[in-house]
Amino acid sequence: STRVGVLALQGDFREHIAVLRSLGADAVPVRRPSELAEVGGLVIPGGESSVMDKLSRTFGLAEPLKQAIAGGLPVYGTCAGLIMLADSILDGIAGQQTLGGLDVQVRRNAFGSQLDSFETDLDIPALGAEPMHAVFIRAPIVHSVGERATPLARLADGRVVAVEQGDLLGTSFHPEMTGDVRFHEYFLSKVRAAA
Ligand code: GLN
Repeated sequence: STRVGVLALQGDFREHIAVLRSLGADAVPVRRPSELAEVGGLVIPGGESSVMDKLSRTFGLAEPLKQAIAGGLPVYGTCAGLIMLADSILDGIAGQQTLGGLDVQVRRNAFGSQLDSFETDLDIPALGAEPMHAVFIRAPIVHSVGERATPLARLADGRVVAVEQGDLLGTSFHPEMTGDVRFHEYFLSKVRAAA
């Protein structure tokens, strides 16, 4: 299916749905396993990963999500969504779990209180020569990148803020907020190719 779901348990799922629809995609909110079964790709939005984790387990979505990821569903996680996709977290709250799939370890809230939120321009060669303006909000950092994952973007200090692994994509920042739709377009091309 070329229908794209956006996990709609918590966070800024409406913004992702709006961007995907503006690109012509059949984008729908996903809250139930039956809705997950109907999509050919999934965006996991920003929000609060510990809450998203709890809600996904409460609503019986965690296991179907893990199976879908293991089965090759294209998934794009932004910020809290990147944390949900990471195989491990350095500093999760007690009992916090992730769905996993991306061979990375992330650190939550990696920028401390002074840099709670900031914006910067990133070079992302995979998406073209034009730098991308990126908004970080209590953002995670990719602390280590395993063998199966590839960094797509780094801050000036070298820290990784975007990764790709086959049909999985993750960004520390929020492209759904800036009008630069290249990540969403790139993700939709993966969804179409997988369909
Ligand atoms: N700090 C949040 C978390 O740990 C992520 C913030 C965001 O998604 N903008 O889940």
